[in-house]
Amino acid sequence: MSPEPIPAGTEAILPPEENDVPALPPPTRWLLLAPCLALLLPAGTGLADAPPAKAIQRPMLVEVNLADAQRRLFQARLVIPISPGPVTLVYPKWVPGEHMPSGPLADLAGLVIRAGGTTLRWHRDDVDMFAIQVEVPSGATELEVTLDSLSPPPGTNSGFSAAASATANLALLSWNHLVLYPAGSDPRSLPVAPSLTLPAGWTASTPLVPLAGAGKNPGRISFQPVSLSRLIDSPVLAGSHLHEVPLGVVDGAPHFLVLAAETEAQAELRPEQRAAFEKLVVEAQALFGARHYDSYRFLTSISDSVAHFGLEHHQSSDDRVGGDAFVDAELFTASATLWSHEYVHSWNGKYRRPIGLATPDFQQPMKDGLLWVYEGLTQYLGVVLAARSGLQAQPTVLENIATEADDMEQHRGRTWRPLEDTAVAAQVLYPARHDWEAWRRGVDFYFEGTLIWLEVDALLREKSNGARSMNDFCRRFHGGKSGGPEMRPYTLDDVVATLADLVPYDWRGHFEKRLQATAKDAPLQGLEAAGWRLVYGPVRSAFQKAIETRDQQMDLRASIGMVVDLRLSSAGDLVDVVPGSPAFRAGLGPMMRLVAVNGRKFTGSTSSEQMLRRAVARTPAEPLELLVENAETFRTYRLDYQGGARYPKLEPIPGRRDLLSAILAPLGTSPSKKSP
Ligand SMILES: [Zn+2]
Repeated sequence: MSPEPIPAGTEAILPPEENDVPALPPPTRWLLLAPCLALLLPAGTGLADAPPAKAIQRPMLVEVNLADAQRRLFQARLVIPISPGPVTLVYPKWVPGEHMPSGPLADLAGLVIRAGGTTLRWHRDDVDMFAIQVEVPSGATELEVTLDSLSPPPGTNSGFSAAASATANLALLSWNHLVLYPAGSDPRSLPVAPSLTLPAGWTASTPLVPLAGAGKNPGRISFQPVSLSRLIDSPVLAGSHLHEVPLGVVDGAPHFLVLAAETEAQAELRPEQRAAFEKLVVEAQALFGARHYDSYRFLTSISDSVAHFGLEHHQSSDDRVGGDAFVDAELFTASATLWSHEYVHSWNGKYRRPIGLATPDFQQPMKDGLLWVYEGLTQYLGVVLAARSGLQAQPTVLENIATEADDMEQHRGRTWRPLEDTAVAAQVLYPARHDWEAWRRGVDFYFEGTLIWLEVDALLREKSNGARSMNDFCRRFHGGKSGGPEMRPYTLDDVVATLADLVPYDWRGHFEKRLQATAKDAPLQGLEAAGWRLVYGPVRSAFQKAIETRDQQMDLRASIGMVVDLRLSSAGDLVDVVPGSPAFRAGLGPMMRLVAVNGRKFTGSTSSEQMLRRAVARTPAEPLELLVENAETFRTYRLDYQGGARYPKLEPIPGRRDLLSAILAPLGTSPSKKSP
């Protein structure tokens, strides 16, 4: 491992968060099996590794019971060491990685607070809804708190970790949903002793390290004490069809792909898929040069009944995909960058974190302005690592980049809202509706981030005659010394200084142009500097087809300017209409419902989808008339469109050096085999 120097200016700002948690030994492969608790424990996982005495008085007990997870009732019992007098307990409000105050407070139920066997009256603060006030009687040394989290049903897709998380066969536990902690205490050093009860026949996987022995309650798994921050950073995936697939020990740390599915068949991994995940770990190590976790788990829920998204943690990621995501090669391709993206976050987002997101507890507001680095660079590196690992074949990655670039081309809100504002306002834009997204803009710092960081990569390579690249940036900015989770905050100055150290250039001025200017077109300069350009042709790429199949939508924005919903319950709904497009000029708007195409009924079926595609392709030879239902009224709209079928793709620019293919090529560096 080559410990690259941390750029000047960042060394002094050491570690608010998770650095002070006790060092835990790297876990080996283990499985939790309830109720018989067959534990394969690593050596040295006993209490000897608990936090130092000065940091703890007594740990807070967090006992979570998932026995009722199948009917989506998660339960907890907390024992909180406390002193007599007035006390405020707080429920985690700002959720790391979600960048907004998304703690699912409305789903907190059954709250009872006791001291010495007496039930205490509690009051909610009438300004801060996340704060609960209680008077602790004299002589009491602890509070016993019982509470439930009402996990939402299938179909609840918004809210990230607060969305649908449990089915008859699996559940994802986010500890922050079931915790109250004393206001004013520091979650980074507040010790907790967690334990977990599972439904009979379920197993579980988590970065937490189980304690040896079953303890008094044979159905409960107890874990080594950790800080509250570390606990909330360590979700648990549990289920009746759960498999931990070892991906290899790289740089001394074991890695696992954990699959929990509705059926055994859905959790089957093909050899080429496993090989790509193994290569992902090796390529990430080659890119960053060090790791900042003791072990890493891709905690993957495979189900049509949970919400689909990814959430990063230091030592794991909560990755949720559809039921056929591994079975169907096309759907696997469509979701492949999910794992590489979330994995990159262990370095970019968890280890290095914008200062505005490095808040000391879960109650203080986060500042999202640097999400174009936190999420934008992660999106870029996620695409790069998908190519280098083989999670996506290189031609597919080019189609992926074309799709992201076109998505940004269609977002016309860039004319009024600069990219930086999509980051600053992320807490408003994540939950925003998708109708009029092309005009509102969404969380564009993801896909526009891909374009911006590709440009930075191309500039570094060009200006150094190929001697420097984003690979060097990653080693310097995210590398350092391998070890367990720690966090180093950064500012924009640190990003600029690291780049300038690699290649002298006005990076600050460059970013200001990309972030603060309004413009009509997406920033495609980097793509072109890398030797490729975004063009349009009549053939839909296999990648776009896969995405549309997964999302059950038709994306016709590049031709007539609209996205059509194909889901059974909402077939024909115009998900969005692009301002200035033929559909827009004809008078169409989002959430009108397409009923007929040139007099033929539109149902959302495969045949009616083809009918609409053919009708678009046949323009201008034939008219394109759409009968649309808008609230209580039907009306026919005639589109003035001559372009035929039109879908995005990349093509090489003749005579230009192909930097993109070089960027996407595996680094081929052998991983270091030495122990940390
Ligand atoms: Zn992300």
